[in-house]
Amino acid sequence: MVEDICGWTALAGHRADFAPLRGTQTADVAIIGGGFTGLAAARQLAALRPSARIALIDGKRIGEGASARNSGFAVANESPGHAQLHTDSGLASYRTMNRLDHAGVAELRQLTGQLGIDCQWEDTGSIHAAHDPANFDRLRHHAETFQRLRIDARLIEGKDLHSRLGTSFYSLGVESRGGALLQPAKLAQGLATTLPDQVTCYDNSPVRRIDRDGAGWLLELAGGTITAPQVIVAVNAFFPRLALKSLRLFPLALTASLTRPLTAEEEAQIGHAPSWGVLSPQSLGATMRLTQDRRILIRNTAEYRPSGIDSRRLDSRVQVHADGLAKRFPFLQRDAIAYSWSGSICISRNAKPVFEQSQPGLFLCGGYNASGVSRGSIMGKLIADYACGQDNPLLSDALSLIKPNLIPPRPFFDFGVKLRMAAERRAARPER
Ligand SMILES: Cc1cc2nc3c(=O)[nH]c(=O)nc-3n(C[C@H](O)[C@H](O)[C@H](O)COP(=O)(O)OP(=O)(O)OC[C@H]3O[C@@H](n4cnc5c(N)ncnc54)[C@H](O)[C@@H]3O)c2cc1C
Repeated sequence: MVEDICGWTALAGHRADFAPLRGTQTADVAIIGGGFTGLAAARQLAALRPSARIALIDGKRIGEGASARNSGFAVANESPGHAQLHTDSGLASYRTMNRLDHAGVAELRQLTGQLGIDCQWEDTGSIHAAHDPANFDRLRHHAETFQRLRIDARLIEGKDLHSRLGTSFYSLGVESRGGALLQPAKLAQGLATTLPDQVTCYDNSPVRRIDRDGAGWLLELAGGTITAPQVIVAVNAFFPRLALKSLRLFPLALTASLTRPLTAEEEAQIGHAPSWGVLSPQSLGATMRLTQDRRILIRNTAEYRPSGIDSRRLDSRVQVHADGLAKRFPFLQRDAIAYSWSGSICISRNAKPVFEQSQPGLFLCGGYNASGVSRGSIMGKLIADYACGQDNPLLSDALSLIKPNLIPPRPFFDFGVKLRMAAERRAARPER
């Protein structure tokens, strides 16, 4: 049976634990969730309110949830596949999100430089690429859209693409600039360990309930309680478990594998291609990377399984990863896989995030599909701006975003989403 070990976290090395929250505590602001959103919110709150006491609370280890378990794309130019770009409002909405995503990448670029966070940051952008000719029109549409929006992008075809990637699996790609590739666990760890002193971090402190407490809020945890006039909830896929946004947001379980470093012979087989990141034009197609430390990452499963992926299921998903690797790099078999893991993303029916003050002093931020590295980093910063009564153009952008659509109640939703994903999985099969 495969053990669920996030390769990025294993390779980042162990950081010291933060003590769990115990007893009766108070804070000026409590942030629930220590992923990119919570980390960004904590840093910005500390900057805006230098004397405030800020608590950053995570149910497991700060920075080791989806923020460490992703594929490491700081996405700047999301696939325009789902956007209603033929309408003025669809185009305006894509532009707004695109501005926010670019701002998220810029924020992370600046922080990694300023704080000296070594996370294998590369300003390489990403390539949307397809194997199946049925997806070529979709890619041409990506390229035209990027051009219309003045995003730096170009089509790469045939031999050029093969030598760029070191595999002949893909035949057409759209390379776009602005985004970055990185080692996500190292980034999250670097951001957590450089927070200002007025932020108290708590690992292994799951919040069980959020209740009103006079003018503020009371959080109930296994080992204690904390009260705060303001609370920011940044728990991503776990909003519904806190009975928040359960008719707007839902989780998807993803799995990924990372190989050992390529051998000298394997390097020769791929023509010593420089590192790259490939995204699929199909929402359930494979995400692939050739990393700076010469490993290959594959993420080619996604499913609606709110309880997560157990070891038995992970075992069968790893076979799907091995098949995906063998299609692209026939010399790489299952035993080249060094680490495999699962993680959850948070999604809404219309792919829009939550960004709001749902009740006085209770702020909710999350739900970015698979773009939360850059998006979580900017939205987390902006939710802190919002909580502090700031005003700036990016905050106006975030507040102007369309809200997530309603979903039907369970079990109707469960049935519908499984049917829809089965159809999407069939359509994406050649790209998995
Ligand atoms: C396999 C995979 C690949 C992905 N690839 C990419 C990619 O390449 N690029 C990209 O941009 N995005 C990607 N994503 C999505 C990305 O990881 C998320 O969008 C991002 O991590 C969201 O950040 P966040 O801080 O909002 O949430 P998270 O990182 O999920 O953090 C939420 C935190 O809240 C904590 N928490 C939950 N419930 C409670 C509770 N009750 N009490 C206390 N704490 C709680 C969790 O332990 C967790 O640490 C991927 C995700 C997965 C799983």
